[in-house]
Amino acid sequence: MGQAVYGLIGWPVGHSASPAMMNAAFQEMGEPAVYGLFPVQPSRIEAAMAGLAALSIRGVNVTIPHKQAVLPWLSDVSDEARFAGAVNTISVDADSGRMSGHNTDVSGWWKSVSDAQKTPWEAAIVLGAGGAARAIAAALALYSPATRLRIAARNVQKAEEIASGFRDKIAIEAVPWEKRCAAIEQAELVVQATPVGMWPRDGESPVEDAGCFHSGQVVQDIVYRPLETAFLKLAASQGAKTLDGLNMLVHQGAAAIQFWMKRQAPVEVMRTQALAAVGGTPAH
Ligand code: NAP
Repeated sequence: MGQAVYGLIGWPVGHSASPAMMNAAFQEMGEPAVYGLFPVQPSRIEAAMAGLAALSIRGVNVTIPHKQAVLPWLSDVSDEARFAGAVNTISVDADSGRMSGHNTDVSGWWKSVSDAQKTPWEAAIVLGAGGAARAIAAALALYSPATRLRIAARNVQKAEEIASGFRDKIAIEAVPWEKRCAAIEQAELVVQATPVGMWPRDGESPVEDAGCFHSGQVVQDIVYRPLETAFLKLAASQGAKTLDGLNMLVHQGAAAIQFWMKRQAPVEVMRTQALAAVGGTPAH
């Protein structure tokens, strides 16, 4: 038996930290496996999916723009993927070629915040209404349904779409972008899930008033380049506990390994490699 092949399907995939992180994990686990990058143009996703089993590829992560396009190819999808309406991890059965889909952003995000606080969250707010925001709403609906969740987005219609999809599972409401500061003040858990503040525009923050934050809050930015975003600096200046986006990246990768190999992943080794790949020191 040669090495089992895993990888990341997306367009583009060039700047991903995943190969360094996942190959370090495989090595630490003694798994004869390799993780590579598969740049797949949008027009070629069908051909790529049709070829996975034929090429004996054992599993892939899926990123923008393919997270929904892969759904028709899957024999089954997990609750996490169904709730999130998107798949970021696919396992290919070596014998039958059947493919199963999962969304490890859901459990990966949940692990990244539940490591920071063990008691249940009463009130949470997410900034942004894209794929990551939807995965976070899915996580709270699945693992913490007593939390009251607000979603603030510059396009409030998109926040409303997410809210209406989850209303039977969790108390959830959309908040207009202009009212985000007051809504942040009222939340114990604040999650920044827009690309604002991401390198190279790392001076920018989706919130400019430090008065929105206070001590006792946990404030996470899921952007991980840079680790300490302008948004997190503002929250830290008011005594809030801050969490950078690296733990979510590491835990979604660890959950993918668990899904593929039914083995626990070496989280610390992965964190060290991911940190080196994004080039920084943690914000906390
Ligand atoms: P996405 O689907 O493109 O959604 C982005 C959201 O941010 C949309 O609601 C968008 O609003 C909003 N947005 C964009 N620019 C904005 C601005 N200038 N002001 C206010 N809102 C703005 O992206 P995604 O997949 O959710 O990812 C969001 C971020 O999270 C990215 O930076 C990504 O790298 C990061 N991420 C990190 C992890 C991790 O493991 N740490 C995992 C997933 C994602 P419109 O719809 O109006 O454009």
